[in-house]
Amino acid sequence: MKIIQELQNIVGSNNATSSKSQLYCYCRDASQVKGMPEYIAKPSTTDEVVEIVKLANKYDIPIVTRGAGTGMAGGAVPIKGGILLDMSGMKKIMSIEPENLQAFVEPGIVHSKLNEALEPYGFFFPPDPGSSEMCTIGGLIGNNGSGMRSVKYGTTKNYVLDLEVVMADGMVINTGSKTLKSITGYDLTNLIVGSEGTLGIITKALLKIHPLPKMRSVMLASFEDAELAGEAVVKILANGIIPSACEILDETTIKALKAYDPGLEISDAGAILLFEVDGTPNAVNDGIETIRDVCSSIAFEIKTASDEAEAQKIWRSRRLVGASISRIDPKLTRVYMGEDIGVPIKEIPQMLSYIHKLSSEFDTPIMTYGHIGDGNLHTGMAIDLLNSEQIERVKKIADCIHKKAISLGGTVSAEHGIGAARAEYVEAEKGNALKVMSSIKKSLDPKNILNPGKMGV
Ligand SMILES: Cc1cc2nc3c(=O)[nH]c(=O)nc-3n(C[C@H](O)[C@H](O)[C@H](O)COP(=O)(O)OP(=O)(O)OC[C@H]3O[C@@H](n4cnc5c(N)ncnc54)[C@H](O)[C@@H]3O)c2cc1C
Repeated sequence: MKIIQELQNIVGSNNATSSKSQLYCYCRDASQVKGMPEYIAKPSTTDEVVEIVKLANKYDIPIVTRGAGTGMAGGAVPIKGGILLDMSGMKKIMSIEPENLQAFVEPGIVHSKLNEALEPYGFFFPPDPGSSEMCTIGGLIGNNGSGMRSVKYGTTKNYVLDLEVVMADGMVINTGSKTLKSITGYDLTNLIVGSEGTLGIITKALLKIHPLPKMRSVMLASFEDAELAGEAVVKILANGIIPSACEILDETTIKALKAYDPGLEISDAGAILLFEVDGTPNAVNDGIETIRDVCSSIAFEIKTASDEAEAQKIWRSRRLVGASISRIDPKLTRVYMGEDIGVPIKEIPQMLSYIHKLSSEFDTPIMTYGHIGDGNLHTGMAIDLLNSEQIERVKKIADCIHKKAISLGGTVSAEHGIGAARAEYVEAEKGNALKVMSSIKKSLDPKNILNPGKMGV
């Protein structure tokens, strides 16, 4: 029997296909990485996933698990063909238990839908990616993603208690426990979190949830240059204030945003910092006052949102960054090349000035923005897709940025993942630890069926 027929026998004829037009829909994620699957299968249950894994073993073909395909490193792109496992159909919320601080979900649920379901209980799932309306919980766990609020609340790994995982041979395991603390055995939960579909397929997730803060307040500070903004962040954190968000927009980003929407209420500045503080009213007021004190001697303008409508206006500038990137120079056919480095907090000013130096050396505008409060900076460059000189130039810039981050004790990916896009840097960052990772991969997936060619393993 043909593989496609066997897949259709497992998931039903409407949920498996090898039609070229469907395959094309799965050949990219939000990165530049490309790869064509041979089959698509959309399972609805753990048993179906197990059967698909057994089939992949029988024919020795790869399985690439995909949530929503919003990843920015090619993690869900099938670069070696095989079966693309689309998990978006497994999206049930099995239970929400505020008294246990837990929610039990299938991996295909979209992040924002989970938070909508938690809100009536007065709870939320804190990791807060910019792609909240699209990305899945499985993809977030696969990448150990985070976002705006990780400076205070940490990353996805801090909220995963237990995972049901289908391993490469079809065995189903539970990695953790229903308790908030458990130290029995190796920490398999944290092995699977961030493993980008290379070690197992997550079919259920028990998540820790957090009470919604009583109050949130938003503030914006404008600086002459990005290095000054970096210094302000270092001082604020050293003063013991942990904002629930601390984002930077540099001068190139501000220009692109203003070109995209001239109505945005942000000043022409060398850099803008956007702060959110949450908690009890007293804690929020104290936090905002301390941030104002620190910024007042460094920033040339400070604005605090007086109500929710103003806060949302401020947040809008941050949310439009991705969309505005093409406005750096709208004359050309352009493509977004985004990086995701992280550096220790006190190295932020040095990293920012290095990026600015690169921008003038290579005569290329570089948008720098991101979750500066935890040292995570994104750089966006836009180029003419048909111009090979520009493509090479941008690759060189990205290479310099990655190497600089490593030299400062940082990382080539703080939240977007390694996938295929950054695999070449894992050895430089991790050294001998990569050998250990490769032996874990070999031992758990000896036939290299799960997401081959990713993460450098
Ligand atoms: C506009 C935009 C803004 C973004 N902002 C942020 C941000 O602020 N923070 C951030 O962290 N990321 C951000 N991202 C990146 C991306 O949204 C996240 O990495 C997200 O977690 C990916 O989720 P997904 O469902 O799209 O996963 P996919 O891209 O489909 O997959 C991501 C990885 O997880 C694996 N995977 C998916 N499901 C499973 C599963 N069930 N079992 C095992 N492995 C699985 C895949 O194989 C792949 O390696 C952004 C992306 C965009 C386009």
